[in-house]
Amino acid sequence: MSKERTLSIIKPDGVSKNAIGDILARFEKARLKIVGLKMLNLSEAQAREFYAVHKERPFYNDLVKYMTSGTVVVSALEGDNAVIKNREIMGATDPKKAAAGTIRHDWAESIDANAVHGSDSIENAKIEIKFFFPELG
Ligand code: ADP
Ligand code: MG
Repeated sequence: MSKERTLSIIKPDGVSKNAIGDILARFEKARLKIVGLKMLNLSEAQAREFYAVHKERPFYNDLVKYMTSGTVVVSALEGDNAVIKNREIMGATDPKKAAAGTIRHDWAESIDANAVHGSDSIENAKIEIKFFFPELG
C-alpha cells in the first residue's frame, strides 16, 4: 500500500442537495484524510482549464457550463491508495451504472449532474491538487 493524495470536487448538484457532509464523511470513514478543503465558484476560465483533457469531447462545453453553474467543494484527500479508493467510493461516471452504496448511486441524477469529480491517476491528482491547492506543495 502506498500513501497518496487525490483531488475530489463535490459538484453543484451535490452541494445544492445538502450532500457535502455525507460525502466528506464517506471519505473520512474510508480513512482518507482531508488535507485541503475549499468552497468556491469556478470561473469559466478555471473550469475550461481544469477539464482541458476533455476539450475535444462533445460534452466539454456542457461540462464547463455545469461546473460553473453553482458552488462546489474541493478537497485534497490523503491515504493508502487514495486515487483508486476515491474512485471506488464515487462509483461509475454514469449513475445508472454506479454500484449500490457509492456516492453516485446514492446522490447523482445524470451523467452531467453526477455529484463528484475524482482524479483518475496519481499523475493527474498531482496536477489537480496543484491547481486548487498550490500551498500544499
Ligand atoms: P469521471 O468524472 O468519472 O472521471 P470523465 O473524466 O470521463 O468521468 O468525464 C468527466 C465528466 O464529464 C463526468 O464526470 C461527467 O460529468 C461528464 N461526462 C462524461 N462523459 C459524458 C457523456 N458521455 N455525456 C455527458 N457528460 C459526460
Ligand atoms: Mg475523469
